[in-house]
Amino acid sequence: MPDVTIAIIGTGFSGIGMAARLRRAGITDVVLLERAADLGGTWRDNSYPGAACDVPSHLYCFSFAPNPGWTRSFSPQPEIWEYLRRVAADEGVTGKIRFGADVTAARWDPDADVWCVETTAGTLTARFLVTATGPLSDPLIPGIPGLDTFAGAVFHSATWDHHYDLTGRNVAVIGTGASAIQFVPRIQPLVSRLTVFQRTPPWILPRQDREISRFEHWLFRRAPVTQRIARAGIYLGRETYSLGFVKNPGIMRKAEALALRHLHRQVSDPDLRARLTPSYLMGCKRILISSDYYPALTEPNVSVVTDGITEIREKSVVTSDGTVHAVDTLIFGTGFHVSDFPMAQRIFRPDGISLAQRWSAKPAQTAFRGTTTAGFPNLFVLTGPNTGLGHTSQVFMIEAQIRYAVSALRHARRHGIERIEVRPEPQAAYDREVQRKMRPTVWMTGGCKSWYLDADGRNVSLWPDFTWVYAWQTRRFDPSNYDLARSPRGVSDALAR
Ligand SMILES: Cc1cc2nc3c(=O)[nH]c(=O)nc-3n(C[C@H](O)[C@H](O)[C@H](O)COP(=O)(O)OP(=O)(O)OC[C@H]3O[C@@H](n4cnc5c(N)ncnc54)[C@H](O)[C@@H]3O)c2cc1C
Repeated sequence: MPDVTIAIIGTGFSGIGMAARLRRAGITDVVLLERAADLGGTWRDNSYPGAACDVPSHLYCFSFAPNPGWTRSFSPQPEIWEYLRRVAADEGVTGKIRFGADVTAARWDPDADVWCVETTAGTLTARFLVTATGPLSDPLIPGIPGLDTFAGAVFHSATWDHHYDLTGRNVAVIGTGASAIQFVPRIQPLVSRLTVFQRTPPWILPRQDREISRFEHWLFRRAPVTQRIARAGIYLGRETYSLGFVKNPGIMRKAEALALRHLHRQVSDPDLRARLTPSYLMGCKRILISSDYYPALTEPNVSVVTDGITEIREKSVVTSDGTVHAVDTLIFGTGFHVSDFPMAQRIFRPDGISLAQRWSAKPAQTAFRGTTTAGFPNLFVLTGPNTGLGHTSQVFMIEAQIRYAVSALRHARRHGIERIEVRPEPQAAYDREVQRKMRPTVWMTGGCKSWYLDADGRNVSLWPDFTWVYAWQTRRFDPSNYDLARSPRGVSDALAR
């Protein structure tokens, strides 16, 4: 018998949601392996000044754990982190977490039909493995020549150094993505000089954030259905964005007009405005929302540099035009490892091929329903290939995947099945269909190079349709697409433990 029936790696929305749903399904022989000392994933790590969600909170949370107490329409990071801790405690998940357990390798043992999971806190065997390690959990710092010679403080937005006082510093911010546009307005008033190095300007829409009123709090608590209606309204509103992203990218021109009006209203200097105006179709890269980023860039202590960085020296950043920018602090807002799938590099089938190698082989077939891969039995990958989003709540997709995986495990319990493995043909057909739908999307036709694409220009990150289509496809486990092996020992008992 394995040490545990189900091992889940990670304790962000995915890991906590998976464990909670398993428990509700009566499957409790579960362990969660977390490399950090606390739970929360994204919302534990991204504590930089101004960190907040950019999908309204009533949608950016679990459907089974609504929070009538959100204080703002886009809640700040501490509140989301606190929400996750509360859900984990309420759902009986916290006690199942093994902290400080960085999973270094997981190998499938075909003789025993178990995963051997090696962690920095010891090794264990599990019948089923669920990776819940997130699409954005390994910070990416680009390999700029000379970076190791820099004498000042260096950190990434996801590993913010809260002990380091930025007051009076001469700071370089590298990158102008979703995190940078949140922390730049917060640090600009503190620092002496702020040089923002921008490779590609983002499209930015106004942030319609507001406090949630006492009346709304009262209403949501007294009549929970009203919160569900609010959530449904936000969901439907956000789904209409898909029309522009995946159905008819030309629609994005209308949204561009809104963003350009926002830019013109907030930036009067035509030269700065030109540098901040994107040249690709809106949506091709993540659309950002902010009402205080542009004003921060117009302050006298800020400059926006658009020449590429060629080198970093002991006390400066050098750009392609030969300018030497003196700085004493480097903050990277350069995003995360995404299309190289860090966790998939640590999961191995018996012949030593890793899941990442399998996914990058040609023809790449990524994962069936973004979740299961031939050759890797009893493995469910949450936020797997082509399950990411550019416009609405990732938690919606996570919950759909969880529903699918739990349905598979319930099927195994009901039928005494020990090994579940997707067949290569449905996996290949699924991938062809995803990539067919991907072709006309704004991410492929919008004229930009984004982190959504892998080295071959394939978009293996995003879901190219309405999210309800994905939820429909994953509503229940579909055994006809799988090879299933019955247990001589009765795994149904194990799943019921
Ligand atoms: C700053 C920021 C803002 C965001 N805002 C939004 C938003 O507004 N709306 C939205 O839809 N999405 C947003 N996202 C995307 C966000 O990542 C997802 O919405 C969601 O939080 C992902 O949850 P997760 O549990 O899958 O992954 P994560 O929250 O990343 O959790 C993964 C966990 O796995 C652990 N882990 C990783 N590798 C290992 C290992 N080898 N061994 C053990 N443990 C490991 C990590 O420590 C972490 O705790 C944002 C992301 C960032 C970075």
